[in-house]
Amino acid sequence: MGTIEDLRERTRGLVVAEGDAEYDEARRVYNAMHDKRPRVVVRCENAGDVMAAVDFARTNELDLAVRGGSHSVPGFGTADGGVVIDLNAMRNVRVDPLTRTARAGGGATWGDFNSATHAFGLATTGGIVSTTGVGGLTLGGGIGYLARGLGLSCDNLVSADVVTADGRFLIASEKENDDLFWALRGGGGNFGVVTALEFRLAPVSTVYGGPMLFEMDDAAAVVTGFRDMIKDAPEQLGGFPAFQIAPPLPFIPENRHGEVFTLIVGCWAGDPDQGEAQIAKFREFAPVVAEMVGPMPYPVLNSAFDELVAPGLQHYWKANFVTELTDDAIQGHLRHAPGLPAVNSTVHIYPIDGACHRVTPDGTAFAYRDANFATVIAGMWPDPAQNEAGIEWVRSYYDDLAPLSESGGYINFMAGDDQGRIRDNYKQNYDRLVEVKRKYDPGNLFHLNQNIMP
Ligand SMILES: Cc1cc2nc3c(=O)[nH]c(=O)nc-3n(C[C@H](O)[C@H](O)[C@H](O)COP(=O)(O)OP(=O)(O)OC[C@H]3O[C@@H](n4cnc5c(N)ncnc54)[C@H](O)[C@@H]3O)c2cc1C
Repeated sequence: MGTIEDLRERTRGLVVAEGDAEYDEARRVYNAMHDKRPRVVVRCENAGDVMAAVDFARTNELDLAVRGGSHSVPGFGTADGGVVIDLNAMRNVRVDPLTRTARAGGGATWGDFNSATHAFGLATTGGIVSTTGVGGLTLGGGIGYLARGLGLSCDNLVSADVVTADGRFLIASEKENDDLFWALRGGGGNFGVVTALEFRLAPVSTVYGGPMLFEMDDAAAVVTGFRDMIKDAPEQLGGFPAFQIAPPLPFIPENRHGEVFTLIVGCWAGDPDQGEAQIAKFREFAPVVAEMVGPMPYPVLNSAFDELVAPGLQHYWKANFVTELTDDAIQGHLRHAPGLPAVNSTVHIYPIDGACHRVTPDGTAFAYRDANFATVIAGMWPDPAQNEAGIEWVRSYYDDLAPLSESGGYINFMAGDDQGRIRDNYKQNYDRLVEVKRKYDPGNLFHLNQNIMP
């Protein structure tokens, strides 16, 4: 299958090439820093289209990029002169309330997923922004409000449909191709194109939470208080401390808009009647400047920050796992957080204890089962003219914290220049991941990712 015409004949979805009316829209990715010109974008509608696109890329020896929710900060969802598999048309989510499972297309977003499962009073751990892709987030691990109680998103994965580098279709689960299933749960997009993901669900419907803002002068007390409290808190209590410039929202006093604050975004996913008492614990750390806390449907909390991170911003992120969030590390945050480059930028310190720790370190590819927090320094701003200063802010923040953190970090929060950290990110699991890579993708067709080299 050599030509684009051959590819068009074999696919039901649209194949968009340079010169086509849809080309500029089809090549656009979420992070506007990556303005690339692929040879073709294949808008796959089914696994057969994905097989055709994989075959086309392999036989023509072209770079292959895979895109679901398109949120890749390093821009792995596009490639100059390459083939893009765009799964945006494969977003259907089917819930089986009897078995409490849901099956999502490889391009579904968390908004698609949560709205489908919420209708049945069910949910699983997903990201905190509804436009993020289920596929990319889960394959890297998956951190969110429900992680302390339900584990990472990948811990709730039951099976995956996968098109491998040789164009074959496989099902990966505990029962079939279990080596592949192990690698998919944290190993990212290294092993194939996942055309559907099946998840275990839990009863979660109304949660109690939202953001609380505290003065930066109280930041040390707030972050220390959260660190000390969360380790013994019930696992249904999720959320995270953060640093953020106050956006112009009505619940924040107008004269404080544009100032940097310490936040706690809380999420109680247990009995809603206990919600106020659980969230009130955060108010003991320091006086609250503003808050928007209360009972709400889980999908509402899960999309509360969507507007701050609309498509088209410039992104540069870095990340580390943290086992002990030391007082020195908190001081490091306090030195850098006041320099947040834009209202869109943020720093989150996600607790990943509880159920995340109950999976053994070699039980899935996701290796850091003893880390207590995952930190992300998420640089986001609208104007490309801010790139140099913004990237410098992220790097110097990260450099200051690195000696006080683990050497590895969460692959989904990392930059494109973090390829050198792959072995550290996977530590004891790295060699086994290389073995699985050699079995399923010996030619490294899937290399536009935090790459595990065969
Ligand atoms: C605004 C924002 C909020 C975020 N919030 C969270 C969060 O709360 N928790 C969290 O854990 N992470 C979060 N992330 C990080 C997120 O997990 C990663 O960016 C992830 O890669 C996004 O997946 P995607 O499908 O949207 O992106 P894409 O760009 O579509 O995909 C990223 C990469 O993942 C792989 N991939 C994606 N789908 C497939 C598939 N179906 N089959 C095979 N490979 C695939 C490919 O290698 C692809 O290049 C966030 C990112 C952003 C930008």
